[in-house]
Amino acid sequence: MLKASLVAGGILAIAGLVVLGGTSPAATTAVAGPSGIAYAGEVTQGGWVRGKVPQGTRLLTLDGAPVKIASDGAWFAAFDRDAKPSATLVATLADGRKVSQTIAVAPRAWQIENVDIARKPGGATEDFMKIRQPELDRINAARVLQTDAQGWRQHFVWPAKGRISGRFGSQRVYRGEPAAYHSGLDIATGTSGTPFVAPADGVVILAAEKPFTLEGNLLMIDHGMGLNSAFLHCSQILVKEGDHVKQGQVIGRIGMTGRATGPHLHWSIKWNDARLDPILFTGPMN
Ligand SMILES: [Zn+2]
Repeated sequence: MLKASLVAGGILAIAGLVVLGGTSPAATTAVAGPSGIAYAGEVTQGGWVRGKVPQGTRLLTLDGAPVKIASDGAWFAAFDRDAKPSATLVATLADGRKVSQTIAVAPRAWQIENVDIARKPGGATEDFMKIRQPELDRINAARVLQTDAQGWRQHFVWPAKGRISGRFGSQRVYRGEPAAYHSGLDIATGTSGTPFVAPADGVVILAAEKPFTLEGNLLMIDHGMGLNSAFLHCSQILVKEGDHVKQGQVIGRIGMTGRATGPHLHWSIKWNDARLDPILFTGPMN
């Protein structure tokens, strides 16, 4: 049950929050409590929550950053791979009162592989950056596009079924020097050309007409509320920018364009700047 008590500064602190369906992505229906903020989801690093704020709530923030509220009071927020163990939601109610809610974000045991070889010397050359910078600019421009997509409300489906050949968050450490962690989930289907589908409703915000240096043929889908998916290394993209796509609709074909050693779909999900684990949106592959 929700218990609200007034604390110094006029902020209502809520003990005994309403958390529904903590582990199963299927059980995500949030029901507003008698007062305060209700939420449910995968409350862990790389995970997410969907919730509802009291009617008339003017503003919602997560650790100070604004969280969009839909007209029905529903909202979505998520936790970066390296999110701290607790996060705080603050809602400014219709009457101006502030309600706060602390969320415990469970840590994950990321797959870390120690390798006894020196890391390849890094640093991009000037020539490389001449090609790379416009690609990065385009990705960043796509990510800030606001669309009316409603996929953020849905339980995601797998874009393709196959062997999971790379997990989100895994990282190599070269003689103590950590490399960038794997930002997505790799699905290997063995051959190029296998179709893949939209995991949730969305709007196409980037459809590369020629391969990017690293991502190859890159397809990005906005799911609304700051949530988006990227699909890398496609052999073919079957939709165009601005298209509305439905969950389950074929949107491209798996390939190995860009930096890839074999045909696979690299699927990454971001919410604003937070990098998320796709498996926490779908549940295990059946
Ligand atoms: Zn990958």
